Amino acid sequence: MGKDRIHFYIEQHRAALETMALDIWAHPEGGFQEKRTAQIQAEYLKRLGAQVSFPVACAPTALVAQYGSGFPVVGFLGELDALPGQSQKVCAYQEPAEKGGYGHACGHHLLGVGSLAGFAALMEVMREEKIPGTIRYYGCPAEESFGGKTFMARDGLFDDLDCCMNWHPSGEDSVALTQSSAFELMEFHFHGVEAHAAMNPHMGRSALDAVELMNVGANYLREHIIPAARLHYFITDGGRAVNVVPGNAAVRYAVRAPQIHQVQEIVERLVSVAQGAAMMTGTTVEKKVMSIYHNRLPNNALSDLVYENLAHCPWPKYTTEELELFRALSATYSPSLVEERCKTLGAAKDELWNSLLRRPIRKGNKSITVGGSTDVGDVSWITPTVNLTVTCCPIMVDGHSWQACAAYGSTAAAKGMTRAAQVMAWSAYDLLTTRQDVLGKAKKELQQDRNGRSYTPIPQDMLPSFDNL
Ligand SMILES: [Zn+2]
Ligand SMILES: [Zn+2]
Repeated sequence: MGKDRIHFYIEQHRAALETMALDIWAHPEGGFQEKRTAQIQAEYLKRLGAQVSFPVACAPTALVAQYGSGFPVVGFLGELDALPGQSQKVCAYQEPAEKGGYGHACGHHLLGVGSLAGFAALMEVMREEKIPGTIRYYGCPAEESFGGKTFMARDGLFDDLDCCMNWHPSGEDSVALTQSSAFELMEFHFHGVEAHAAMNPHMGRSALDAVELMNVGANYLREHIIPAARLHYFITDGGRAVNVVPGNAAVRYAVRAPQIHQVQEIVERLVSVAQGAAMMTGTTVEKKVMSIYHNRLPNNALSDLVYENLAHCPWPKYTTEELELFRALSATYSPSLVEERCKTLGAAKDELWNSLLRRPIRKGNKSITVGGSTDVGDVSWITPTVNLTVTCCPIMVDGHSWQACAAYGSTAAAKGMTRAAQVMAWSAYDLLTTRQDVLGKAKKELQQDRNGRSYTPIPQDMLPSFDNL
């Protein structure tokens, strides 16, 4: 039977897949700089006989692999990028592998190779069983910063999907039914007139003054936007010398809100604040958009099917050393944090002390928006998309931390990755064969959730940014 064959394929290739993921973990790369990572994946997929396009969508490190033809078309989302300053060794105390270097503290090495493995296993079974339909793997860069998927979406690369498999490494097995926040990241560049700050300050027009006045204005704006919205900023260029009136200055802003149209409304008002600051200081201002993420729309119909498969996916056998590492990493958190996490997960304390919550959960519902943002949101507006999480670290460990980078670099994490591959390949197999009915339901649900709004891609003239956040 196809599902057993998927399991067998993954078992047979486990060593190679785990080695690939841990090798990528050991060579972390930043957003739109993931050349080595993308190359490794593209070569692996070509060797399997998939049709590989690399690079795509004006993003130098984005790739797409395809197998099969016709209906249905099922996607697998992978990610590639690491985080700056998060370098860490696999151990239970904080020690960077490279001081100040990149680190896979969000586990995108697992995310990418896990989705690739799900695609590869299903491809093999489709070939053997002559199953009609199309599957596609997306190697998506710069999720943490500039949104590779939004560039791929602008090029229409997700348009013909009937649904999309998506997962994230985590401290629990779950399907997340919550929304993520919509987000826009932008930089305001002010241009004034340089002058000697002591001899001729009256000749100067300070771009830094404009930045500071803009920030004051934005902080007043805060009170008059919806409470669920967030404004974050930092000054990226404040001048170079105290005795020169700064001719150029820049400030980077992020705006978050539950819905993309709410972000757009706040950004419009923020632009007015910037223009006001420019007017007050005799400077000019330019806005550069760096990324725009839609809020993520969960899909209950698709999530139910994936949950069934998740519940049937057996746990791996961990070695004593692997469990010891997980317990030691959990012990780096304070008892009050453990208590809080118990409440959030509805977990008993002994489950947390064992470091692993050995049961799947359905997390939240559509009325809840979590604070973070992801470019998976954009895909979820185009096609029904599932948000699976699979245990790759202790429950206590949150992403973007040294503990996460340590846990995700372990062999235990790689075992979670191959489970994710199996759950996604099983679910996609169902959709290609006996459960095509779910696709119709999932699409109808998406249409209702969009509530008459269509997906708006990023502006046509927007290019990938390359600096690091
Ligand atoms: Zn992340
Ligand atoms: Zn992530």
